[in-house]
Amino acid sequence: MSERYQPSFLNNAPAAFGDSQGIDWSTLMHPDDREAINAMEKLPGFSTVMKWVLSGVVEKVMFGKNIGNTLRLGPDQLPEYYQLLVDVCKTLGITEIPQFYMEMNPVPNAYTCGEQKAFVHVTSGLVESFTPEDIRIVLAHECGHILFRHVRYSMLAQTLLLGLGSALGMAATVASFGLSTAFEQCVYRWMRMSEYSADRVSALYAGSAKKATSVIMHLAGGPESILKNVNYKAYYEQTLEYEKTFSTKDWEGILQNLTLWSKTHPYNASRGVEIGKFASTTVFKTTAQRLGTYCCGECGAKMRTMNICMNGHIN
Ligand SMILES: [Zn+2]
Ligand SMILES: [Zn+2]
Repeated sequence: MSERYQPSFLNNAPAAFGDSQGIDWSTLMHPDDREAINAMEKLPGFSTVMKWVLSGVVEKVMFGKNIGNTLRLGPDQLPEYYQLLVDVCKTLGITEIPQFYMEMNPVPNAYTCGEQKAFVHVTSGLVESFTPEDIRIVLAHECGHILFRHVRYSMLAQTLLLGLGSALGMAATVASFGLSTAFEQCVYRWMRMSEYSADRVSALYAGSAKKATSVIMHLAGGPESILKNVNYKAYYEQTLEYEKTFSTKDWEGILQNLTLWSKTHPYNASRGVEIGKFASTTVFKTTAQRLGTYCCGECGAKMRTMNICMNGHIN
């Protein structure tokens, strides 16, 4: 395993984030993601299981699953789709293009795996129903998981929570680790929080909260015929109402959180809120400007000056 993938729990040093485009991605990680990683790393036995996960077994299984059953895209294989990932990596400053696989599956979906050699997986349903621009935003989210070195923990989650452990005959390892409800909740929570960080990268790539949020809604199943008429301002207000009502520590908030306990992704409303909050910060603006992606939050047009878009909206 190469030095740069040294997991933080082994050396207590910050994870080796890329500094592509002069951006220190570690500073852009969502604070709840960082806190959830710290909580996982404090779990008894965590490092033992993590060492096994990082030994390469899980990655090889996932790699085999992809290479054996999907199309590997490249300059000679559906280059029009491969180019979308190349474009995203170029903008984000990722020099080593991850391997890129497409699965024949009508459900729009995407995920990333591979700690030693990252790969991105999309379904045919995603590329069929999304515009090239929206596919790039989804790919930017997946690249976000790579930039934040999330993959090592998602391999752990897939092993322990999603049944890969027993499929590999590793039930004994899992049992000796003592897979408790508390542990499960800790890992599930991290999975949800990691989405907030990856969404920050898709928002930065998209250049505005509106574009990034529309892709999340699209992934949730909304067809273009409906989405094109969605009022995003009203949707954003709806997400704020969700947060105001349920982010409390009172009984209603606790009950609402219980509905999320075994979910790998936060509710779309929460993702919309977090993207909106991030997009309103100065760090979002300066980072998106550095990436050359910053655009009007109102209409999505390019900027004429630092604060005014081509259509005259003040940002
Ligand atoms: Zn994700
Ligand atoms: Zn505008």
